[in-house]
Amino acid sequence: MNKPVLAADTVAIGLGANLGDARQTLSWAVKAIAQLPQTQLQAVSSLYGSKPIDSSGPDYLNAVALVTTQLAPLDLLHALQAIELAAGRERPYRNAPRTLDLDIELWGELQSDATELTLPHPRMLERAFVLLPLAEIAPQCVGADQLQAVREQGIELSQGSGWWQ
Ligand code: ATP
Ligand code: CA
Ligand code: CA
Repeated sequence: MNKPVLAADTVAIGLGANLGDARQTLSWAVKAIAQLPQTQLQAVSSLYGSKPIDSSGPDYLNAVALVTTQLAPLDLLHALQAIELAAGRERPYRNAPRTLDLDIELWGELQSDATELTLPHPRMLERAFVLLPLAEIAPQCVGADQLQAVREQGIELSQGSGWWQ
């Protein structure tokens, strides 16, 4: 990242779903994230719709949530994976359609190239469905040039903030 981003305890979580009742699952996931131990929900973006990229199946719904947490990075990742599992996530092959995907996009200014948890998320800058919702709730994290670079991707506003309540 080439801009100052987030406080050290602040995490941007990307949410995506394209199987089942995606809006319902994402809404449930936001509430599950809000109830994680030592974690406070700070903001939730609008809900966006997008076509699958490098993938197949129904259109995706996506959003980004901002939390503060005192959890260690791998503990939060594992907690998010447990929420995915509870929502019926399966991984039959890479980029398969999914009931729920929770990615850690940014964690303060942490940088990690560990395979289990790479930070920032290595593909976030390629993805309008991450950058647009992130720019809504943490505009300091996304440069105008970065938004411009993903402008062509078909992504549309589905529902304004509060969709998950
Ligand atoms: P993509 O990573 O391109 O968004 P995906 O979300 O479909 O693809 P998954 O199958 O959900 O990929 O995750 C594969 C692995 O990615 C997980 O086992 C996890 O350990 C690892 N991973 C690495 N960095 C991150 C991160 N920042 N957030 C979430 N998972 C990560
Ligand atoms: Ca993902
Ligand atoms: Ca993932």
